Amino acid sequence: MKKFLDKSTVLKMKECLTVKGQAFINGNFVDAASGKTYDNLSPRDGQLINQVAATDTVDVDRAVTAARGVFEAGSWRNMAPKDRKKVMLRFADLYEKHADELALLETIDMGKPITDSRNIDVNVVLETLQWYAECPDKIYDEIAPTGQGTLAMITREPIGVVGAVVPWNFPMLMAAWKLGPALASGNSVILKPAEQSPLTALRMAELATEAGIPDGVLNVLPGFGPTAGKSIGMHMDIDCVAFTGSGTVGKLFMQYSGQSNMKNVWLECGGKGPNVVLADADVRKAAERAATGICFNQGEVCCAPSRLVVEEKIKDEFLEIVLETMRSVRTGDPLDPQTTMGAIVDAEQLARVRSYISKGQEEGAKLLLGGDTPETNLDGYYVNPAIFDAVTNEMSIGREEIFGPVLSVITVRSEEEAIKVANDTPFGLGANIWTRDLSRAHRVSRALRAGTVWVNNHDQSDITVPFGGFKQSGNGRDKSLHALDKYTELKTTWIEL
Ligand code: NAD
Repeated sequence: MKKFLDKSTVLKMKECLTVKGQAFINGNFVDAASGKTYDNLSPRDGQLINQVAATDTVDVDRAVTAARGVFEAGSWRNMAPKDRKKVMLRFADLYEKHADELALLETIDMGKPITDSRNIDVNVVLETLQWYAECPDKIYDEIAPTGQGTLAMITREPIGVVGAVVPWNFPMLMAAWKLGPALASGNSVILKPAEQSPLTALRMAELATEAGIPDGVLNVLPGFGPTAGKSIGMHMDIDCVAFTGSGTVGKLFMQYSGQSNMKNVWLECGGKGPNVVLADADVRKAAERAATGICFNQGEVCCAPSRLVVEEKIKDEFLEIVLETMRSVRTGDPLDPQTTMGAIVDAEQLARVRSYISKGQEEGAKLLLGGDTPETNLDGYYVNPAIFDAVTNEMSIGREEIFGPVLSVITVRSEEEAIKVANDTPFGLGANIWTRDLSRAHRVSRALRAGTVWVNNHDQSDITVPFGGFKQSGNGRDKSLHALDKYTELKTTWIEL
């Protein structure tokens, strides 16, 4: 695996990149039917990367026609499972071959450090593609225990045309979490990347086609939410939408479904992760992870540990280590391999983060560090990580998802109070508990209302486990075999013998 060792090499590689901006429909790059494009700016320096197709209803219709056509023709869904596996593995191989290029595209498009794109995102996407590629010829259907005289089969069938609408924070990964299970189970997909980060989705579709995935099976429609996104949600011939993004837009997709064809809507939405640190925790480890956890991906992480719920007895000692770790974070040019925190995705998101930093101060929380602008010599969107003490769950920085590197510290006096505070949120995506007491770890993790509970770690995972939320963090699950449920229908065939 190639490592990005120094900035000058990375900059040279960037100069050699080819970027695509047209939509990808039925195996070809095409302009939006309207001819409209928009400026795709890099958060690194605010400069134009390329013009990207602003697709709309007509393009969604074109893509659905292609997707439905190939689904009905059966060249993908009826392909022998072992052959579908081979094509998917070829796709994964091609993805791996272009790992450096994809990492670079991701970084210039959405601002995360190149070291993370290359060593984390690309590897996790590869694991996802390889894992789901292996599924088609390993999953068996069922025979129901009906007794003599009857054969009742329970089989899974692909649902049909899937609309996948994804955000900008992990563009490739969120796409892969949908594409892996949707394609492995034989569906056609219309993927809409976020308007801020279309580049890797377009390149992945090109590689999928090169791998032998038939034309029309994977279509990519860049464009805006209220136009391209809404048209997907409202389409009468899309069978399911798998969405990752904000709760506000997630709720819109439920409405679109009710106003159109009752398509299934699967939602992976926001979070306000409680990071519960009890007095008997390994203080250094927990404090370091609290700091690096909120800075990872510029805090633009749905399961970021953004509420630090810490027991009073250890708080002072704990915060000292959090501050020390945060001071060592290197915010700056995402193309510099030494950078540990890159650029915020766009000017609007940067303004949102800054407005929460001001609100925190207005509402009486105490800013201990950061929130200012780092020196970069670049005209991009940067902010140093911020930490607030004396936060309560009632303050907006304690309640609302900021989606930036802002840590809110809430002090508690007992395990019971910690659980109460942790669960007092409309979200339920990720939560953490730090304690050395095994029974306590079990007790607290059962009490926490979240789709994932990390005990004495943060964000450890792999593709074998499901990921998704309780409450307003969503429904259904990405990852693991459970994700296949979203993209398949169950059929009962009852045969009288
Ligand atoms: P967003 O909801 O603004 O956008 C997500 C997608 O929806 C984009 O493709 C966008 O173009 C589209 N969209 C926007 N408005 C739309 C509309 N009116 N109709 C149809 N589609 C529309 O979210 P974002 O700002 O891109 O991403 C941040 C959010 O994503 C955060 O809330 C974060 O927590 C969430 N997220 C969740 C997970 C998870 O797995 N639960 C993972 C990553 C991000």
